[in-house]
Amino acid sequence: MRYRREDIFERDDWTCQCCGAYVGLPGKQAQIAHKIPNTIAMRRKYGSDVVNDEENVMLVCSLDCNNRVQIGNNPVLCEAVVEMVKLSVGGKQTLEEEVAYRCNRIGT
Ligand SMILES: [Zn+2]
Repeated sequence: MRYRREDIFERDDWTCQCCGAYVGLPGKQAQIAHKIPNTIAMRRKYGSDVVNDEENVMLVCSLDCNNRVQIGNNPVLCEAVVEMVKLSVGGKQTLEEEVAYRCNRIGT
């Protein structure tokens, strides 16, 4: 799902997801970091839906932390993000429906 910056800040408790610094005070820098970098090449490879998904972003406090959470050079981790995004886009609901369907069939 596409996100709003404020939603990510709230979700991550105004805390840098890299170093743990609290950034909810005036004068502190909260910024959005992409795990799979938001570049043309990466959007082409994994799709802009994935790159811009809430699962691909986190709150960080600095450019330094931003760089540390980037996983663009690690295809295995990138694929893991893709899987998480797929699961959040209806995947969880599909799974629950499938389980309910199977369980209801038992004994009939
Ligand atoms: Zn930080």
